[in-house]
Amino acid sequence: MLDHKLEMDLVKSHTKREIGLYPTQIKPDAPLLVVGAGIHGNEPSGVIALKKVFAELERLDVAMNGNLLGIAGNLMALRTGERYIDRDLNRIFLENGNSIESGQPYFIHEELERREIVQMIEKVENQKNGSKNLYFLDLHSTSSDSIPYISVNRKTSNTEFATKMKLPVVVGIEEFIPGHFDHFLTERGYVGFTVEGGQHLDPNSITTHINTIFHTMITLGMLNLKDVSASIFPMKELIPAIQKQKAIYEVVFRQDIQDVATFVMKSGFKNFTKIEKGELLAHSDGKPIISPFSGYIFMPLYQKAGKDGFYIVKKTEADNAS
Ligand SMILES: [Zn+2]
Repeated sequence: MLDHKLEMDLVKSHTKREIGLYPTQIKPDAPLLVVGAGIHGNEPSGVIALKKVFAELERLDVAMNGNLLGIAGNLMALRTGERYIDRDLNRIFLENGNSIESGQPYFIHEELERREIVQMIEKVENQKNGSKNLYFLDLHSTSSDSIPYISVNRKTSNTEFATKMKLPVVVGIEEFIPGHFDHFLTERGYVGFTVEGGQHLDPNSITTHINTIFHTMITLGMLNLKDVSASIFPMKELIPAIQKQKAIYEVVFRQDIQDVATFVMKSGFKNFTKIEKGELLAHSDGKPIISPFSGYIFMPLYQKAGKDGFYIVKKTEADNAS
């Protein structure tokens, strides 16, 4: 077993666009599960998880009723360990080459990455019969320490699918940050979601990603649990925290930041920390920012980069009723 540091280094030196395709010959009538990883170059855990899942499927020589395609995202950023080179790759998936049309071919590095990713997906889709049975996962991690959670685009089939995963589910972030990979695949007719496995460098993030890939394939009937049960890791220490926060949440508020240099988030917030209306959440240019809603804090910004100060999410009616 490779140690964690070496695994991280191998992502930098040994990641190709196609992380894996299993089985190597497409089964045209079976489901296709596309799994993206490393769309942000500073998030290696999904890449490591996919490599392990493919190695495990090959070792077990599993007969699979489906196709698993693993795609690496921002290859150049993965090499340097940066979030992106010129622009966030996870915001330009719906732009369809605007940077090229504006007369500046390949000016934005991420446009090259985006094109290669789309081409790889099209190539595999062309080997399938019809456009049914298309599924995806996009594997991410967070800068701050966080319990794992799922983010889904507002579409019933996505939410139904995501709630089978036993993780908290946040609905509707695409309205605030459109153009991510998840958004692109949803528009293309895929059913799936984004998995935030935990902190970028936490080994538990890799475990969460591996387990989510296996659970998704089992849910889709691509694998039998008994064939891979020994490959799924126990998540004992994480489960109580996940159970406590498990619900379906909806994004109701985004705090815009005008000047990140003067934005200071109050310390101590994590994803899903409960907050009350009127509570002090942050300061901007020395002035207090008070919560306009009761709910739960989501993606609090503790870095000196970005335009999103924090989000507020609420538990949905559907979830309260259950
Ligand atoms: Zn990410």
